[in-house]
Amino acid sequence: MKCLCAVVPREEGENTRLILSDSDNLRTDVHIASDDKFVYLPIISEDGLRYPVQEKELEEIDPPVNFKDILDLPPGLMEQVPNSFDIVGDIFVLKLFPELEPYAKDIASTLLETNKNAKVVAIDRGVKGEFRTRDLEIVAGENRTNTIQKEYGMRYELDLAKVYFSPRLATERKRISDLVKQDEVIMDMFCGVGPFSILLASTGKPTAIFAIDKNPDAINYFIKNIKINKIKKISPMLGDARIRATQLPRPDRIIMNLPHTAIEFLDVAMGAVKKGGTIHLYTIQEPETLDMIKNSIMSLAKSYGRKVSIENVQEVHTYSPSQQMFCFDIFVN
Ligand code: SAM
Repeated sequence: MKCLCAVVPREEGENTRLILSDSDNLRTDVHIASDDKFVYLPIISEDGLRYPVQEKELEEIDPPVNFKDILDLPPGLMEQVPNSFDIVGDIFVLKLFPELEPYAKDIASTLLETNKNAKVVAIDRGVKGEFRTRDLEIVAGENRTNTIQKEYGMRYELDLAKVYFSPRLATERKRISDLVKQDEVIMDMFCGVGPFSILLASTGKPTAIFAIDKNPDAINYFIKNIKINKIKKISPMLGDARIRATQLPRPDRIIMNLPHTAIEFLDVAMGAVKKGGTIHLYTIQEPETLDMIKNSIMSLAKSYGRKVSIENVQEVHTYSPSQQMFCFDIFVN
């Protein structure tokens, strides 16, 4: 089908795609095309575009079929089938209520049939242990848990059964990367396969990023991902953040993305961060208990002789019916 396309240099492609999509000016009925130099983004209107426009032949996208429309389950169970699920690369990750477990294979194969991007469907029985890995069972598709996730123009290779990764943090990672100022030194205390550090480094602003994780698999993938994305100035290191953080240069910004227990490491972060620096502390909690955490932060700062202000409490995403993930942006003086 012939379509009007914005002709965008490859390096600006992902950002422009997001901007066009946010302003409802990106067509979703055809595939995006690209060549060595440019990405061809199908547009609805030329108004306000700062890129040249060209007519191109683009392949049509089949209208999506909702897997629930063709799923056949006994009466009363359809309402329990989730409407949304995590997609990491080509792996679709489902959480099921216990009463749906006997139908896991039917649900997974229908999902596979109706989504051509899905190559593996796995049931997620929870994020567990110190390394925060998912307890996964593959129920349809290929027998593997490794994949490549694309996010804001970056690529992350990972094995979902061996390392932590959540696509639901993508917007939060972008928010933090937008806050980074020129020549910052950054510490990513619980870095996983590197999605915060790599996106932050891709802005070109930090002079150094020190990234720590206790999981050897996460650090190995992180090293691969630095190469894949051709990123410089990041030093990934295996170890316990409690010890490693005290041996590194003082950072301007610390990312503490270990939501259930990060607060137990806040003393180390308070001791390490430069005057005028920022700590991003992630928590999972009921919204009613936000004041309790704010008070703990303030009294811990006092005991360390540091003056802090909580500049922002960011809602990141819903975690359970009663709990949410939050980020406390703490300015430290
Ligand atoms: N920030 C990463 C991301 O966005 O994908 C990963 C976050 S994951 C929730 C937390 C990570 O902390 C895991 O990779 C886990 O292995 C690591 N971890 C847990 N305890 C640790 C510790 N004491 N020191 C360093 N890393 C730790």
